[in-house]
Amino acid sequence: MNTSGASAPASPPIRASEALQKKLAKIGLHSEADLLVHLPLRYEDETRITPVNRSFGNEPVQVEVVVQSNEIQFRPRRQMIVRAADESGEITLRFFSFYPNQQAALSEGSRIRAFGEVRGGFFGAEMVHPRFRKVGDDEPLPLELTPIYPSTAGLANSALQKLIGKALTVGDMSETLPEEVRQRLKLPGLARSLRFLHTPPPGTDLDTLHARNHPAWRRVKFDEVLAQQLSLRRAYLARREQGAPVLIARDDLGARLLDSLPFGLTGAQVRAMAEIGSDLAQPYPMQRLLQGDVGAGKTIVAALAACQAMSAGWQAAFMAPTEILAEQHYLKLKDWLAPLGIKVAWLSGSLKSKAKREQLAATAAEAQLVVGTHALIQDGVDFAKLGLAIVDEQHRFGVAQRLALRKKGDNPHQLMMSATPIPRTLAMSYYADLDVTVLDELPPGRTPIKTRLVADNRRDDVVGFVKKAVEEGRQAYWVCPLIEESEALQLQTAQETYEFLFGQFPGLTVGLVHGRLKADEKQAVMAAFAAGEIDVLVATTVIEVGVDVPNASLMVIEHAERFGLSQLHQLRGRVGRGQYESTCILIYAGPLGEVARQRLKIIFENTDGFEIARQDLQIRGPGEFVGARQSGVPLLRYADLEMDADLVEMARNVAEEMLTEHLALAERHLKRWLGSREELIKS
Ligand code: ADP
Ligand code: MG
Repeated sequence: MNTSGASAPASPPIRASEALQKKLAKIGLHSEADLLVHLPLRYEDETRITPVNRSFGNEPVQVEVVVQSNEIQFRPRRQMIVRAADESGEITLRFFSFYPNQQAALSEGSRIRAFGEVRGGFFGAEMVHPRFRKVGDDEPLPLELTPIYPSTAGLANSALQKLIGKALTVGDMSETLPEEVRQRLKLPGLARSLRFLHTPPPGTDLDTLHARNHPAWRRVKFDEVLAQQLSLRRAYLARREQGAPVLIARDDLGARLLDSLPFGLTGAQVRAMAEIGSDLAQPYPMQRLLQGDVGAGKTIVAALAACQAMSAGWQAAFMAPTEILAEQHYLKLKDWLAPLGIKVAWLSGSLKSKAKREQLAATAAEAQLVVGTHALIQDGVDFAKLGLAIVDEQHRFGVAQRLALRKKGDNPHQLMMSATPIPRTLAMSYYADLDVTVLDELPPGRTPIKTRLVADNRRDDVVGFVKKAVEEGRQAYWVCPLIEESEALQLQTAQETYEFLFGQFPGLTVGLVHGRLKADEKQAVMAAFAAGEIDVLVATTVIEVGVDVPNASLMVIEHAERFGLSQLHQLRGRVGRGQYESTCILIYAGPLGEVARQRLKIIFENTDGFEIARQDLQIRGPGEFVGARQSGVPLLRYADLEMDADLVEMARNVAEEMLTEHLALAERHLKRWLGSREELIKS
């Protein structure tokens, strides 16, 4: 099957002046097809004229007036003030930026229709930056709602309207959904839907159009989501056509690792290992995401996968986003594997040049497992025989970085890991080009973490909790507030917190770790904490990912209301890793807004990361999750992943069907909806 071909004919380019074409290109409009799917943001009702003396209010209205004067003022800033009137009264139109041709159109005596909200200004009724149009005497009113298109500076809505109107008469709006699919899903035809949305017939209800649940909108959104699914799925299938090393274990390395562990695998880990193990033995590259809540035990699964690669005679790479985390992995993996005779190399930006040379040489020769940070993907890093690329906390890496790691081998298998739980519909959208394994079971014997919410003015109590925990032989984290606006301020706050706690705990050792420390300084502090030499670790959010210190049983987070929920969940997951009863104290500064209150309630009441993510999505919308992965999502302009979740499910199945049975339609569908935008998807 041809899954990568671009056989569908290109849509004709837009016929317009070069200057206009340039502006259109700015908003992604290159072809007729692009125009047809450039849909209104909203609609305005210009079918009626409101007399000036009745035009005040929150709703935008249209007035028809004759210009009486037009002057440019320079105080307090440059602006054009236009006085105009109808029979009922006078109105001022104020513009802070304008083109010469607009100034000319608004010269004395011009009759214009202006559309906007009317406010009470210094001179009475006033519109700021209304949309306006010069009209003749007795010019008929439009019968239809006016579509307002997404645009850019200097590109008038009326120009877009004209171009799109033309495209609607000559453009290609033929179906790309198989008829049987369209009927089954009860979706209206494409041409009908596009015509309706660009030129809603007289009498169409504005609210329905704006709510976007009209069948025409659903059709468009479905097509868009389908294009996304087709594109991701096609990329997935294309990669499957490439060959990859067949990694079949030739000895019992994995079994020996298991034997050496102080614990047995959970059922979920066994299932994950079975899936991954069978992927690795295929002649095409694995593209798998291992998702599992904080503490679910992803590392050992990755290590076992690495064992399979190594015992098949290939190298494995293990990349993590921060120096602290990468080093922890390195130490742990070496601990597990070196006794079994495996050579583990370590690459990080902070290596001194001699050590670095040695590690690079090992990577290019005898090392079987190479652990590191972004240092792994730098130029000059050569692998002897990379068969498996593992990326931990994959959402912290960009698309290009994950690709760069893959390029270090000849199409190696790929295992990505993530503890950022995302709800199912989002996952289907973000990860349509991956196979997903979920570790849905925590290792046994974990004591659930207690969560407490404490108001800022009860800090003394918190200090008491910390003392008590340390007296019992435990350790504590104290996480400083996130200050997004200023790293310097964040640092200062961390310093102050450190000094405050230092004063509060005369008998205890207090440590401080933050992003400005040099890598080796950071590691020294973390190592001391891991070794139990530090009782209380004051930290900025650098400890967010992956740190594993089982003796730490108390986590204090200041200004919890400033953190994202998944971030709080990750931080909380730093404790409760050993057999000790653990507590997470969220200190908040009141008064809390409604959303902040709801969010803290969610984290307080839930311990399951997926459930937290689901509820978070409900109150925040998916925009906030976009950081989780770029791929695919920029392709959605109209569909809303939460509101239109059912469409995602449907589209996924249809995409599968079309790629096997209706490939030509699929190609045309992709061309229409993605056109040049498809380049945005890579992974
Ligand atoms: P994460 O999924 O967050 O990366 P880790 O791999 O760091 O989790 O595992 C968390 C802790 O649980 C580690 O100390 C690890 O050794 C331990 N662990 C992993 N699997 C098991 C298991 N099946 N039984 C007991 N402990 C386990
Ligand atoms: Mg981990």
